[in-house]
Amino acid sequence: MYGLGIAKGLFITLRHLFRRPFTIQYPEEVRHMPPGARTNLLWFDERCTGCSTCAQACPDGCILVVTSPREDGSLNKDRYEIDFRLCMFCGLCVEACPYEAIQSGGPFDDAVYVFDDMYRDKHALTRMAQAYLESHDYTYPNGKKAPRPGELVAVK
Ligand code: SF4
Ligand code: SF4
Repeated sequence: MYGLGIAKGLFITLRHLFRRPFTIQYPEEVRHMPPGARTNLLWFDERCTGCSTCAQACPDGCILVVTSPREDGSLNKDRYEIDFRLCMFCGLCVEACPYEAIQSGGPFDDAVYVFDDMYRDKHALTRMAQAYLESHDYTYPNGKKAPRPGELVAVK
């Protein structure tokens, strides 16, 4: 019928006039982020074996793993670094890690004034991971329980 499309359009406009707005007043209000959202990358030292699978899976080459052998056959992680200047948060490293030592999640509002501050070594990554665990009842983004400070844990 002629004019039906216009009536439908006006009805939709009217309906939206009385709806609550979808926007939020950031930064006063912060939208809830589900755990595991690709907001950042969290590296958990206690789970990492230094196998470098994540570094090999990264298409941007932004993960650096440097290890040295221990007497018992395991590896010292001398360096573990992520260059967030290059990272596109594709999550391939997360999928590749056999030990769930790198997981998607963490802060999404960590903009920096100095670009080079987005290069994070294992100390900066550990600070970020610990801050996440402290604020999430020592639960990893994948839902598994993390060790509390002082608890000895083997990689599962
Ligand atoms: S999320 Fe993608 S680009 Fe970023 S470190 Fe992992 S594999 Fe590399
Ligand atoms: S984060 Fe995972 S894939 Fe990367 S070195 Fe550690 S255990 Fe291996």
